[in-house]
Amino acid sequence: MTAANAHSSVKRVLVSGGAGFLGSHLCDRLVEQGHDVICLDNLFTSQKSNIVHLLGRPNFEFVRHDVTREIWLEVDEIYNLACPAAPGHYQYNPIKTMKTSVLGAINMLGMAKRCRARILQASTSEVYGDPEVHPQPESYRGSVNPIGPRACYDEGKRAAETLFFDYYRSNRVSIRVVRIFNTYGPRMHPYDGRVVSNFIRQALAGEAITLFGDGSQSRSFCFVDDLVRGLIAMMNVGGPKGTPGSDDFVGPVNIGNPTEYTMAQLAQTIVELTGSKSKIVHKPLPADDPRQRQPDITLARAKLGWQPTVELREGLGRTIDYFKSIDMATFRAPTPNF
Ligand code: NAD
Ligand code: UDP
Repeated sequence: MTAANAHSSVKRVLVSGGAGFLGSHLCDRLVEQGHDVICLDNLFTSQKSNIVHLLGRPNFEFVRHDVTREIWLEVDEIYNLACPAAPGHYQYNPIKTMKTSVLGAINMLGMAKRCRARILQASTSEVYGDPEVHPQPESYRGSVNPIGPRACYDEGKRAAETLFFDYYRSNRVSIRVVRIFNTYGPRMHPYDGRVVSNFIRQALAGEAITLFGDGSQSRSFCFVDDLVRGLIAMMNVGGPKGTPGSDDFVGPVNIGNPTEYTMAQLAQTIVELTGSKSKIVHKPLPADDPRQRQPDITLARAKLGWQPTVELREGLGRTIDYFKSIDMATFRAPTPNF
């Protein structure tokens, strides 16, 4: 922070991946709070429509840039979200995915070090792989196949966590690491291939709902508003940067909704909520698809006073309304894998 704004609660905040599903909601909240927000994105898996409503705001700007390349900006806080997140997107160009996680983290951490900014990493439940411990606490070290099709993402995110902690220990960069579990809501890309967007799009179009495997694999779904609240709470935990004890808790912390559903239950619920006549068809289970996933959020509750508030049926209702409101034809599928 410069001397001029050292005592101001208004911060210059960079959100990498800010035009994406989670990033755009985060930008909304930060702009609302009055911060000076820079959204940096190469629009690989997103589109300007997610942020178009912010473009005229004096405290918002958009920079089209790829995080694998250096960039010189002056900021007080960085939320590092840039990375394709849906399996079809991150497997489209796996080497680029690894570069985005690793070089992106290095570039953003370098900026945080130079600006003395606090930086938060959007890590993932995928660092736990196909977990043998259930639910997953942060102390669990995971079971990731390092050479499988999901490894570019899982290992990329694990390497990014390593970089964050090494910059913290070696360079005293003020870090925060959040492990995000499956999150859903308005502005999910309709062709991202993720289960919630796929099932809703298929149900609304009256197409067959593609249930992979026997549908007994589970996930725990967090509504986007709850998630964004968790990210901001984690960024601010401990108080202003540089004050004594402010970096006593840097994470990693799980942010997710612990209520677990099988994919068969999710398909049934979406058919019911949309009133769809779609049939459920079974397709092969993708390689290395985790069998189960549920966050242990004891730490988030204790350290951040955070817990989710939006129940699945309510959140799905809001997501279905969003999908009904958009013209699917205006969305470009970022990759052929949907
Ligand atoms: P998303 O694909 O909608 O958003 C990612 C954004 O990053 C997109 O706007 C994309 O264009 C941008 N991006 C990708 N590569 C880039 C690059 N090289 N340079 C600049 N921008 C780039 O996905 P999301 O669901 O909003 O995920 C955001 C972050 O949260 C990701 O880091 C993801 O790994 C993490 N996360 C999300 C979930 C979830 O369930 N949504 C779960 C765990 C972790
Ligand atoms: N899935 C499914 N049908 C689909 C898309 C996904 O049954 O059309 C399953 C997928 O195999 C996985 C779960 O839903 O078990 C969640 O998949 P998603 O890609 O949303 O996220 P992730 O596997 O990364 O948690």
